[in-house]
Amino acid sequence: SHVLICAGTGCTSNNSDAVAEKFKEELQKHGLENEIQIVRTGCFGLCELGPVVIVYPEGVFYNRVKPEHVPELVEEHLLKGRIVKKYVYGEAIEEKGEFLPLEETSFFKNQHRIALRNCGVINPEDIEEYIAMDGYKALGKVLTEMTPQEVIDIVKKSGLRGRGGAGFPTGLKWQFTHDAKGTQKYVVCNADEGDPGAFMDRSVLEGDPHSVIEAMTIAGYAVGANYGYIYVRAEYPMAVKRLTIAIGQARRYGLLGKNIFGTGFDFDIEIRLGAGAFVCGEETALMNSVMGRRGEPRPRPPFPANSGVWNSPTLLNNVETYANIPPIILNGPEWFSSIGTEKSKGTKVFALGGKINNTGLVEVPMGTTLREIIYEIGGGIPNGKEFKAVQTGGPSGGCITKDNLDTPIDYDSLINIGTMMGSGGMIVMDEDNCMVDIAKFFLEFTVDESCGKCPPCRIGMKRMLEILNKITSGNGEEEDIEKLEELGNFIKSSALCGLGQTAPNPVLSTLRYFRDEYEAHIRDKK
Ligand code: SF4
Repeated sequence: SHVLICAGTGCTSNNSDAVAEKFKEELQKHGLENEIQIVRTGCFGLCELGPVVIVYPEGVFYNRVKPEHVPELVEEHLLKGRIVKKYVYGEAIEEKGEFLPLEETSFFKNQHRIALRNCGVINPEDIEEYIAMDGYKALGKVLTEMTPQEVIDIVKKSGLRGRGGAGFPTGLKWQFTHDAKGTQKYVVCNADEGDPGAFMDRSVLEGDPHSVIEAMTIAGYAVGANYGYIYVRAEYPMAVKRLTIAIGQARRYGLLGKNIFGTGFDFDIEIRLGAGAFVCGEETALMNSVMGRRGEPRPRPPFPANSGVWNSPTLLNNVETYANIPPIILNGPEWFSSIGTEKSKGTKVFALGGKINNTGLVEVPMGTTLREIIYEIGGGIPNGKEFKAVQTGGPSGGCITKDNLDTPIDYDSLINIGTMMGSGGMIVMDEDNCMVDIAKFFLEFTVDESCGKCPPCRIGMKRMLEILNKITSGNGEEEDIEKLEELGNFIKSSALCGLGQTAPNPVLSTLRYFRDEYEAHIRDKK
């Protein structure tokens, strides 16, 4: 058997290092250290229940494991083969009164893991484990059997769209960069995940860094680039550490650097650290920051595909988008496009947070309804409270209410109901949450994060926040609601970059669905 212990940020901050140490100590005490392997993995997804320990071959999922529980687990389970039910994930025992393997619990059985395929399964600091899961096989196939255009055609045919939020067709972006004139081109990975409540990209980087490295190298070959940058926020030290280790290992194995697989293709990757500015997730600001300039957006065109990093053609995709590439190459575009909806193919990773029982990370086929995500996978709302709304798309998105619980989630359906997919943060609100406060929270965030370059965003957002403060402090007047709407729509149409163009959304969307709460604040003066 072997024992997987989560070493993601959530479980580590819950002391999973000490749990792993205790396991080693106990195994040594019983002379089992050579028979039972301890594997430190990335995030399993059920962050709420950390530290998480999974014992194979049975797939028993122990949750909230403390170092003091370990002697009993080793003695009972690993020595005597008896599952210690009191530490097993509740649902796995309670539903049928018997033990359910992890994969059959409702949290996992409704998921479809493509981007997260290796997270929580392999040791991210060991390239051999990635290779054992078919890692770098797609790169080998691309370099030895395919032309760059064939690779691009596969990505196009798969229907993959950008997972950073905007949903632009990935293959088309690759084609534009491939077709752009220039001998020097670059591939960039946007790992500047800054939405409050979002941690999808962090988990991929921490749990499966090689998948991003492999995909960027494939992208480099496809578009004609031989250098890549991963722009990752400095607030993700564990992701940076694992990426650094992975890049070093890939170089040692000849999978990065000169003459990869003996094909004459050169590609290398450098990590660039962001300094915590939300606006640097915007592609033109990000590229400025990669070059060491001030992280401010600039008008487009020119688009990065023609003039990006160092004024050269640049391909920019986000972490989750890249993580989908190797399986698409290996399994074929038809396999990928058979999952999801007509216009949104594949799966999407969501970070579930707020008032929900199973806080954590889930990956579901596009087209899954919010009801399935919240009530089946997410385990519903704590303390028997009623669901009120979920905010998707973070500070750029909007809310989905009870009435839309059965809307299949994809890029287009979310836009139709006044929100957006965004990068995948889902913050769940129950009946006790005030929607005006929620809108204010997001607005405070964007006012703080505005880079100040253009007046609609720099000044307009501040005015909106002042009006909201006036309303929530009991001094609101009836015309304030109209002013908020007018100002919000003006900022949306006149701000320079995506941050400002979407920043009024949380206010506009709560006004659309919860106008009565704004009116109640004004009427009741509180
Ligand atoms: Fe800066 Fe906001 Fe203008 Fe974007 S919209 S350029 S963040 S001021």
